[in-house]
Amino acid sequence: MSDKFDVIIIGAGPGGYVCAIRAAQLGMKVACVDKRETLGGTCLNVGCIPSKALLSASEKYEDAAHHMADMGIKIRGASVDWSGMQKHKDGVVDSNTKGIEFLFKKNKITRITGTAKIISAGKVDVDGTEYAADNIIIATGSDVASLPGIEIDEEKIVSSTGALTLKEAPRSMVVIGGGVIGLELGTVYRRLGSEVTVVEFQDNILPGMDGEVRKETLKILQKQGMQFKLSSKVTGATSSRFSVNLDVESVDGSSSETLKADVVLMAVGRKPYTDGLGLEDAGVKLDERGRVEVDEFFETSVEGIYAIGDVIRGAMLAHKAEDEGVVLAEMLAGQSGHIDYDAIPGVVYTWPEVASVGKTEEQLKDEGIAYNAGKFPFMANGRARAMNAIDGFVKILACAKTDKVLGGHIVGPNAGDLIQEIVTVMEFDGSAEDIARTCHAHPTLSEVVKEAALAVDKRPLHI
Ligand code: FAD
Ligand code: NAD
Repeated sequence: MSDKFDVIIIGAGPGGYVCAIRAAQLGMKVACVDKRETLGGTCLNVGCIPSKALLSASEKYEDAAHHMADMGIKIRGASVDWSGMQKHKDGVVDSNTKGIEFLFKKNKITRITGTAKIISAGKVDVDGTEYAADNIIIATGSDVASLPGIEIDEEKIVSSTGALTLKEAPRSMVVIGGGVIGLELGTVYRRLGSEVTVVEFQDNILPGMDGEVRKETLKILQKQGMQFKLSSKVTGATSSRFSVNLDVESVDGSSSETLKADVVLMAVGRKPYTDGLGLEDAGVKLDERGRVEVDEFFETSVEGIYAIGDVIRGAMLAHKAEDEGVVLAEMLAGQSGHIDYDAIPGVVYTWPEVASVGKTEEQLKDEGIAYNAGKFPFMANGRARAMNAIDGFVKILACAKTDKVLGGHIVGPNAGDLIQEIVTVMEFDGSAEDIARTCHAHPTLSEVVKEAALAVDKRPLHI
């Protein structure tokens, strides 16, 4: 057995590696185990980062091939070099994962490569070697979910991981699931020329987001050429050498059809990953959805064993996992960590982007909370017009009694960056009036946020 650590973290994704850095900053002796050869978990290797590399590259291609002419730039013969795009993506992943290696060395974190299994509180086995620690943190993340009877072969029926490394852009792609992964990766291939059809179980895309935002996003994506089969479910799939036949049925059972596609992307969600961790023997309880159960201090049912990130309750987002990692490290160091689950933004990186924080109008109505809504379109903003990016709006929801901001919802250019102002105001319990009275630079897209805040009090200036 090696020397005892203060903390052993299982999983080097955004939850685990950030927790390791913060714990080391606070003077703890830290080890982080991952079975992957590279650090960074799902996010850096097969998630956030490679998908955004392909989204950025495909967006530039689409602009060059189809949109720049509208602004007086003629580019003849713009074409896609798929292997070049893959090289760009792989390079971005490589530099990011190496960056974490550097941070581990800088912070003197012991990196262990191998598959970890918890023996009991304080003891972890990694491929036959036993390690001891005062605290064990489970940060093993999540894995792709599938549908019964449909096998992901990562060639014709792919998960997001396979979709990042297809040999070429397929002529046709059916995406099962109109959530974040389906819309982001569907957008990449639609831009590259694939005919993309999204089959979604619910009657609209992006469940959980604000109703108006969902409607507007659907309209924009349809205008871009993505096709949708809503209120529909896939009941079976048959693969042949060159294509896949998908049996699709309307949710109410009134109709059915067979869709044919070169490639099918399975994007119906992700499930917590706890395989082979030895949790049952160690006495660590899971909840009804297979997530590791934790209390408000991230402690599991076993003293000294903690869990963070995708493997526990809450949004499966990298920044949520990171914040939990920081908070837990601070709590273990005797500080009072803080995380505000009501102010965690979610962003979909299509164009335009979609971003959301806090309550939706539907939630406020369900909870009987009186609110005022202020909405402002990008169409009425000078900078958005200059950028030729006029689709979408900002909506701010504020308490009718106190004016405190309860939610912000954006579909529009750079929504993912714009939402951050609303997140910060919410974190400080600020009001719509606070945003409205803050000076916003002109001409910027952020003026749309200010105008939406003014619209909460029915006094927008530029509409
Ligand atoms: P993970 O990142 O999943 O890391 C867990 C690590 O634990 C893995 O490296 C795994 O190998 C390791 N592990 C598991 N079991 C063991 C074991 N027994 N022994 C050793 N190691 C083990 N989120 C965003 O916020 N923004 C985005 O833009 C975004 N884009 C995404 C795009 C895609 C295609 C996907 C799939 C996900 C995306 N996500 C995004 C979600 C994001 O990747 C996750 O929320 C985030 O990675 C969760 O972090 P984590 O640390 O909990 O787990
Ligand atoms: P998701 O939960 O976002 O979407 C899954 C979709 O599939 C839902 O719309 C659901 O209604 C639909 N669905 C479920 N069963 C179905 C069926 N049988 N037939 C048709 N549709 C069905 O899940 P995802 O898109 O797979 O993403 C997984 C996780 O990864 C999410 O929790 C997300 O937070 C995270 N992620 C985040 C980002 C980002 O932040 N930009 C990007 C990618 C992934």
